Amino acid sequence: MDFSLTKEQIALKVEFEAFFREEMKNAPPDIGHVHESDAAFDFHRYMMKRLGEKGWIAISWPEEYGGSGRPLMDHYLFNTVRASFGAPGIDQFGAEMYGPTVLLAGSEEQKKRLLPPIARGEVVYCQGWSEPNSGSDLASLKTSAKRDGDHYVVNGQKIWNTGGNRADRIFMLARTNPEEPRGKGLSIFSADMRSEGIEVRPIEYMDGRGEVYNYNEVWFTNVRIPAEDRIGPENAGWKITRETMNFERSGIGGFIMVEQMLEKLVDYCKSARRNGKLLAEDPSVRLKLAEIYAELQAKRTIADRIAWLQDSAGSHKIPPHYASEGKVMGTELIQKVTYLATELLGRHGQVTKSEWTKIKGVAESFYMCVGANIYAGSNEIQRNITAWAGLGLPRFS
Ligand SMILES: Cc1cc2nc3c(=O)[nH]c(=O)nc-3n(C[C@H](O)[C@H](O)[C@H](O)COP(=O)(O)OP(=O)(O)OC[C@H]3O[C@@H](n4cnc5c(N)ncnc54)[C@H](O)[C@@H]3O)c2cc1C
Repeated sequence: MDFSLTKEQIALKVEFEAFFREEMKNAPPDIGHVHESDAAFDFHRYMMKRLGEKGWIAISWPEEYGGSGRPLMDHYLFNTVRASFGAPGIDQFGAEMYGPTVLLAGSEEQKKRLLPPIARGEVVYCQGWSEPNSGSDLASLKTSAKRDGDHYVVNGQKIWNTGGNRADRIFMLARTNPEEPRGKGLSIFSADMRSEGIEVRPIEYMDGRGEVYNYNEVWFTNVRIPAEDRIGPENAGWKITRETMNFERSGIGGFIMVEQMLEKLVDYCKSARRNGKLLAEDPSVRLKLAEIYAELQAKRTIADRIAWLQDSAGSHKIPPHYASEGKVMGTELIQKVTYLATELLGRHGQVTKSEWTKIKGVAESFYMCVGANIYAGSNEIQRNITAWAGLGLPRFS
């Protein structure tokens, strides 16, 4: 493994940095999650267009499908720089999950029709997988899609859908074979969110920001989806989706967030005092900061290795446990650093994001919500995958 950048990559990195430095001057203050406010989402859409113009949304996709035909390593480099600026503009669902799935399993006609609008940053997708009784056990899902001429008629309920209230389209799994209760009866579809029969109902999140954050239930009542929008053969959706899951979990830019929070905490500890002594001089504080720093370096290596493996394979398709390891480590580090921040900041650590609290209260929401440990497949499930795929232990399901 050689993680050093080539001359060309260094030049590309400089170009990315210059772009984000300039564009982020237009960002709403403390932009945060793209679904956190209308202003954040509007800026996200603006950045999607800008990144589309630059050809950076689909850097590694073939040019005939709207991509820039560059190596996957450039995509990783781009994501790393983008994350370091906290910049929006990449639709995680469209550009990072559905697009690569279409590339993997779509027909030529679908690739030509569906991929260029994603690469140009024109369309926002959401993900319709989970159902009230089918989260970890996703293969048991019940939403049905019944063939009717050149359409499918879809009925059922999805849950925990992120951003469905603002998305243009949903990509989803539905049961096309009712006789087959598990994976063998599932197919992949995408639908226009304005289709007749789709209803989006917001869910209140436990940090009380449900109204703005927008996690949703999505209900389907006799929704007609054109058959041309089924990806892959009928009833073959589960096998393909297992690949899509790894695109979602590789999360190679994720460690940047921990790095940035750790930097803020270290700065804070250099100036804040407890019992007359700088926090930076307190052995127990130093120990905890150093422990997170060490884990961060390990996480960075895991992220680099995933990118390197994908680049060497020439596709996102790598054994699943690599992505699972990265997901567990990244999300649990977020939790660790925010728990430490809350401890060190005392009462300030419990105040919602604000100008008036120390390091702007960045830790509170992550402290309260362990969503990252759950979404994209819970960390227990990721450990199961690592056990069977990485360690060769018996598989239970
Ligand atoms: C913030 C957030 C955003 C999300 N966004 C989306 C989205 O956009 N689209 C979408 O489709 N879904 C989304 N999800 C749903 C997410 O994928 C599911 O919540 C997740 O897969 C877990 O499913 P569940 O909630 O039904 O929990 P369950 O599957 O009921 O699990 C409950 C607990 O049991 C544990 N568990 C279950 N089975 C096993 C097992 N075999 N071995 C060990 N432990 C087990 C789990 O780890 C968990 O701790 C989101 C979730 C969150 C929190």
